[in-house]
Amino acid sequence: MRVLGIEGTAWAASAALHDTETNGTVIETDAYLPDSGGIHPREAAEHMRETVPEVVASVLDHARETRDGEGVPIDAVAFSRGPGLGPCLRVVGSAARALAGTLDVPLVGVNHMVAHLEIGRHRSGFTDPICLNASGANAHVLGYRNGRYRVLGETLDTGVGNAIDKFTRHLGWSHPGGPKVEERARTGAYTELPYVVKGMDFSFSGIMSAAKEAVDDGEPVEDVCFSLQEHVFAMLTEVAERALSLTGTDELVLGGGVGQNDRLRGMLDGMCEARGADFFAPEPRFLRDNAGMIAVLGAKMAAAGDTLAIADSAVDPEFRPDEVAVTWRGGATD
Ligand code: ATP
Repeated sequence: MRVLGIEGTAWAASAALHDTETNGTVIETDAYLPDSGGIHPREAAEHMRETVPEVVASVLDHARETRDGEGVPIDAVAFSRGPGLGPCLRVVGSAARALAGTLDVPLVGVNHMVAHLEIGRHRSGFTDPICLNASGANAHVLGYRNGRYRVLGETLDTGVGNAIDKFTRHLGWSHPGGPKVEERARTGAYTELPYVVKGMDFSFSGIMSAAKEAVDDGEPVEDVCFSLQEHVFAMLTEVAERALSLTGTDELVLGGGVGQNDRLRGMLDGMCEARGADFFAPEPRFLRDNAGMIAVLGAKMAAAGDTLAIADSAVDPEFRPDEVAVTWRGGATD
């Protein structure tokens, strides 16, 4: 089966073609980078409108080249239905509906956060992992039980990447801030910041404000970057460890753009090693927002007959991962 995936929840206008026979996934992404400040929803939607047709054409061209110029049969079109920025989702939803209609193939509506999780499960071969999704607009610890991914822990306020980006915006650094904090943290030393885990949930807004204040009060920016990473990533690692312990699971996968950070991966790896669990982080092209994960999960959903009528295909900016009835896995723990 060949599935065309389209992603466009925030910054990545992305298309991918996943072939289930070869397990090959071609991904083309055109990133929206704001001139100043953070992601502006209307500008991001305009970016989707301009570049989604280009990235779709590009993956199809690539597929034609690998078939000596022959046409590429597509069996389904999958799109990111939410969560995400409404104006962006609507552009991507319209593109996916038009393509599915033109090609006369089924339409599949994919939950973006479940796709961040499933790509880790797919590429690791793990059967029933706990997943830490550390992305820009979200932070979730998820585990599967009785047909749904249950939210075992989540952010009480801002997403983890967004918290880091708001801190760097305060410093006047360009978006995205995560890689810049990672770079500056390499030469930093410890300074105290708030550490907020409440039950199984985390909160990032207080630490983000404290980090801004620390820089304003003259703390070296490298030290604040170092400590921001140490605190935030230790919070994520603590909750992920408790989820493993509470569920008796010995597999952890990582998802989301913040997962590209070496220090976060190192902490999670160390924690898993200490408790005899296996840890897997997909390669960066599958961690940050990308249509590959949409196409891969779209293929599993299409194979399970989990497709959408056009009339029922409205996007959902608040689409939670635990709202999704998981149709593509078998029994209680499969
Ligand atoms: P979501 O998946 O929740 O919709 P998103 O659309 O913002 O989130 P992602 O691609 O998952 O997209 O994540 C982007 C975030 O990842 C940004 O906040 C960015 O700063 C952060 N990020 C990217 N690289 C790194 C890094 N090396 N270290 C830390 N954070 C990073």
